[in-house]
Order: sequence, then structure tokens, then C-alpha cells
Amino acid sequence: MTTLRDLPSVERLLQSERAATLIADFGRPLTLNALRQTLDEIRSRLKSRPSTELPSMDSIFAQAESSLRAWTAASLYPVINATGVILHTNLGRAPLSAATVRAMDEVARAYSNLEFDLSSGKRGSRFVHAERLLQKLLGAEAALVVNNCAAAALLTLSALGKRKRVIIARSQLVEIGGGFRVPDVMKQSGVKLTEVGATNKVRLADYQSALEESAALVMRAHRSNFKMLGFVEEPTLKEIVDMAHSFGVPLIDDLGSGALYDTAQYGFSHEPTVQESMQAGADVILFSGDKLLGGPQAGIIVGKKIYLDKIKKHPLARAVRADKVCLAGLSATLTHYLKDEAPREVPVVKMMSHSAESLKVRAEAWREALGQGVVVGGRSAAGGGSLPDESIPTFLLELRVKSPDKFLRALRKNNPPIAARIEDDKIFLDPRTVFLEQESALLAGVRNALKT
Ligand SMILES: *Cc1c(COP(=O)(O)O)cnc(C)c1O
Repeated sequence: MTTLRDLPSVERLLQSERAATLIADFGRPLTLNALRQTLDEIRSRLKSRPSTELPSMDSIFAQAESSLRAWTAASLYPVINATGVILHTNLGRAPLSAATVRAMDEVARAYSNLEFDLSSGKRGSRFVHAERLLQKLLGAEAALVVNNCAAAALLTLSALGKRKRVIIARSQLVEIGGGFRVPDVMKQSGVKLTEVGATNKVRLADYQSALEESAALVMRAHRSNFKMLGFVEEPTLKEIVDMAHSFGVPLIDDLGSGALYDTAQYGFSHEPTVQESMQAGADVILFSGDKLLGGPQAGIIVGKKIYLDKIKKHPLARAVRADKVCLAGLSATLTHYLKDEAPREVPVVKMMSHSAESLKVRAEAWREALGQGVVVGGRSAAGGGSLPDESIPTFLLELRVKSPDKFLRALRKNNPPIAARIEDDKIFLDPRTVFLEQESALLAGVRNALKT
């Protein structure tokens, strides 16, 4: 009968060559921890079932190594997006351009002039970096970059509207996703929320009567992920701005997605652009860095200097400020727009611009390579709280498999994992959101999943 005393000690295990390899890969403390844990597990197994055979050294090390691998594996890694949803929030929204990644990498590796004015040799401000680009690109007087658009809304309302009345249409008190509700953010920032209009209709006169009672701000929030149809009415942004200004009250426009280009040219409906909001006279405009703009996660605040100065000085500005890596990346993405090369360089814009015909060629090549499936017409979506319910034509590879759920699970377990669409028990792969350099990995993953 085997006894616990026959089990090797941690000290003995540590002297073996296998342990030296594990220590080189995972470090001594963690390896020690894994070996101790493995021995503990074996001991309790032997106690409950004394007739069990003593595990070999090999299997002890294998068990320890598998713990070490599990403990040190990254939990966040790339996924192949074959869903055709361009801004998939669950898949990390916008993939970045090569120049953006390069800029982030360079600034991350070294020291930088983040807050160091190289011409005077004195302390500088991190605000200036992306600000100059945004001024040039949009003709804005001033700009500030913060952590995300939710933070931009919280900060702007706190700085300009605290304890004062802020007017907003009922139809804009939306929940954007991930629990971000416009009314909650307004309450959180300490403003007195003043709703005007009915759910489906708001008129200029509604704004007027609310403004007659004095207010600090008028806010407009983009409905983002939902659409109103039927008996609806809303003044144009320009009309609301003019009404607010006639009472000397500024207007904040939370655009959310904030495209800098016309999405209609790619077959979607027209998403309000930042430039249009500027032209309508909005005083402060908020938008995301990683939605239709296609940059890193950021919240961008542009507008009139008198308001931006107040926002920059508010204590919350420090709490939600953007870091150097974000500022470097966002600047690189904005530079693509400044050089009018976004459709070629910014992946989000590029993916929108792929013609259905070019995607058909790719889907057919996939079918050829797999020797399976059929190529069918379908739709790709914008996603990411922009252009709700909207899609553009694409071609999909349709696969019929015995167990679709099992097949999708196999795709998710692939290295790298693959996200696909399922509809009516059929699997669909959309080339629009798959990068050319991911194609061989995608096909290998699909081949493997087909075997399960
Ligand atoms: C998406 C969105 C936000 C939140 O933006 P994040 O960058 O995800 O924080 C805020 N407002 C509107 C209108 C949005 O669409």
C-alpha cells in the first residue's frame, strides 16, 4: 500500500531538472506555490482513497505546470470578429490604425514631453497635445480629452451645471448600454434635471417656456442605439441652439458616436457629424474616441474657450483625464482625418468602405478553401451605439453544421478565438470585419471546428 511518506517532498521536487525549467519560465515563488498546491491535492486524494496509486513525478509536474499556465495566461487577448458588426462593444470597439498603434507604442516605451514644454523648458500641459489637432481639424476654439464620453458628460455637466437647471427633451433621456443612462449621469453630476416635451414630441415652445424660468444649460443627447418612428417631432439642433442663445444659455451636445465624415456615403443613413454640430452653434460637443471615429477609447470635448476653461479647471477633470498612451494614439488617428486619408488608414472607416462585391470575392475564396458552405447576400451592422437598426449589404459564408452551438463553442475555444453569427441554426461568417492577415487563422479555426 502506498503511504503519504512515499510522496516526494517539495525540496526534492525543486532539485529536479523539470523544476529548474518551470522556475525559469514562471519564477521561483510561483513554481513553489504550484508544487505545494499539487502535493496538497495529492495528499488529500490519498487520504480519502488510500488504495490510489502514488502519482509519478511526471504527472506531479504536469499538474503543477498546468496550474502555472492557467495562473499566468492573459485574460484579455485578440479575437477574430467574423460577425460583421464593425463597432462591436463586447469585442473592444474600434481596432486601431498602424500609425496609431505605433504612436502608442513609442510613447509607452519611453519618457515623453507629456507635461514638459520643450521650447521653454518649463512644465507644460498634457491638454495641448490632442487639442491643437482638434482645433485645426474642427475649427474649435478649445478641446479636452478625457477617459471616455461618459466621463466627458459627467465632467461637463458638473463643471457647467451643478445645482442649476439643465433642460433636456424627454425623448433624449436614453440608456446607451452598459447601464449608461443620460438621466442618471445628469443626477450624478448634481444638476437639476428639467425635462421638456413628451416622449415622442418636443417643440421649440417647450424649450422656450423652460428657459423662461432660467437655466444654466440646454443639453441635447444623441439617441444613439434607438430610433423613434411614426408620430415624432423635434426642432433642429440649430433651432434649439438659437433658442438657448436668445436666453444667453449655452447648449451642450452629447453626440456619442460623433462621426467626422458622412456615413451616408457608405450606405448607412446620415449620422450627425461633429462639424454639423459646430455649424449649428453648439457651445460644447462631446463624442467618443472609439466609436465611428475609430481611435482609442477616449471622450472628446470640443467647443468655446470660456466653457472649456471652466471644464479644464474642475477637480473632476483630473480624475477622468486621458493618459499619455491614449493621447498619442488619438492624435495619430486624428492626423489621418487631417490628412484626408481616413478611409485608407482608419480600420473602422475602411471596413465600412469595402464594397459588397469585394467581400463576395473573399467569401467565395473562403468557401473554396474550406470546400464547404454557400456564399449568400447579407447585411453588416455599424454597432457600438451608433446607427441603430442599420446595416449595409455584404456577402456571407453560410455553413450548415450538425450542432451549431457546439460549433460556435469550438470557434470560441480556438486560438485565436473566433466570433461568428448564428441565425436559424445556420452559421454566418462576414469577411467585412476580418482582416486579411487573419484569414488563414480564421480558416484553420473553422476547419478544426468542422471536425468536432
Ligand atoms: C456611447 C455614448 C456615450 C458613452 O460613450 P463612451 O465613450 O462609451 O463612454 C455617451 N453618450 C452618447 C450619446 C453615446 O452614444
